[in-house]
Amino acid sequence: MIPSLRGTHDILPGEVEKWQHVERVARALCERYGYVEIRTPVIEREELFIKGTGDTTDIVNKEMYAFTDKGGDRITLRPEATPSMVRAFVEHSLEQSMAAAKIYALGPMFRYERPQKGRYRQFHQLDIEVFGMNDPAIDAEVIDLAWSLILALGIPQAELVINSVGCAECRPRFQAALLAALGDDLPKLCQDCQRRAQTNPLRIYDCKVPADQPIIDRLPHSVDYLCEPCATHFAGVQTHLTAWEIPWRISHRLVRGLDYYTRTTFEVLGHALGAQNAMLGGGRYDGLVKQLGGPDRSGIGFAAGLERLVIALPEGTAIAAPSRAFVVAIGEDGRTEALKLLRELRTAGLAAQMEFEARGVRAQMKRADRLQARATLIVGGDELARGEVTVRDMRTGDQRGVPRADVVSVTRAIIET
Ligand code: AMP
Repeated sequence: MIPSLRGTHDILPGEVEKWQHVERVARALCERYGYVEIRTPVIEREELFIKGTGDTTDIVNKEMYAFTDKGGDRITLRPEATPSMVRAFVEHSLEQSMAAAKIYALGPMFRYERPQKGRYRQFHQLDIEVFGMNDPAIDAEVIDLAWSLILALGIPQAELVINSVGCAECRPRFQAALLAALGDDLPKLCQDCQRRAQTNPLRIYDCKVPADQPIIDRLPHSVDYLCEPCATHFAGVQTHLTAWEIPWRISHRLVRGLDYYTRTTFEVLGHALGAQNAMLGGGRYDGLVKQLGGPDRSGIGFAAGLERLVIALPEGTAIAAPSRAFVVAIGEDGRTEALKLLRELRTAGLAAQMEFEARGVRAQMKRADRLQARATLIVGGDELARGEVTVRDMRTGDQRGVPRADVVSVTRAIIET
């Protein structure tokens, strides 16, 4: 046997139903909020992420599945969706073709990380993005969609945290204050933080090294350094969230690991999840579209990790088993007619199955039980001669002969109630 790669997973029957449930809920919500699906390739030019995600991020520095293809081009398996979404928005001038540039995507992402519970090398995200809208109400709407997803899935112990990291105007002041406050403590921080101080000081807030925490806890907060427009914007976001009765907490440490964020950032944490507790995260990225060669348009969005949503689903989430019929054949004549009936049921839009290998009635009935069939149709014997089929409602145990012409409608009535 050749095993699967470390950090990748088969999503097996029994588990896949939960995935389908999460995806169904996510799609329905996105569409309710006016988002349209887009599907972008899994492979992109490496350059897109170096420029988009940023070459000081861990994702680009340490985690990309990048390679040279047979044509000599530098290619990468996408580590996140936002740069691809921005590329597609620009490449296809979506703002011209769409009434509102609100798009969503579902699909696999790839990061060469150290696998652990909730962290994989191939994982899946729901990603939503909005372009060209600046009003704080859209920030609140995006956050509302994220929060509604968690509520719709019934995920317990979830917490919404928000922050504002400012803009190109005010962030340099905050960064300077941060470095000044660090002062002589900088050499006491870990190697990663020393590097962050050089490349992107805000990222020091992402540090998880316990010994660094007392120093980091004393550092200034970005919200105290916002310029007037950023402060007004952030206040607006909070006003809308309050009006919609969405509970949140400001987390000064929420700067997020990517370079492109401006103003609003947010995450939803799942406190039952353990170490990898961020179920989704996002924010505003007003400079990114331009930076990737597009018009000067703002952007905001989030990505939710589907693995983590599936893990966080409440115990006993009702996932309806498909309701199906099972056709049992008695004898060769019965089998010929049963096969005809099987096809008829499926053509009529009903889920129906039959056992092709086992010929004994008992074995077929056993199979019907295992499949949890709602209706069993027994074809053969005297009834066939009378032009009837025996239809059994498996929940009530009621059984009766039904004229052949009525079998499909009687079966439908049983399995669709
Ligand atoms: P990010 O793109 O890093 O902001 O991540 C957004 C969401 O994707 C996180 O909140 C997680 O739910 C999920 N996620 C990120 N990295 C991984 C990973 N390696 N394995 C599983 N889920 C992940």
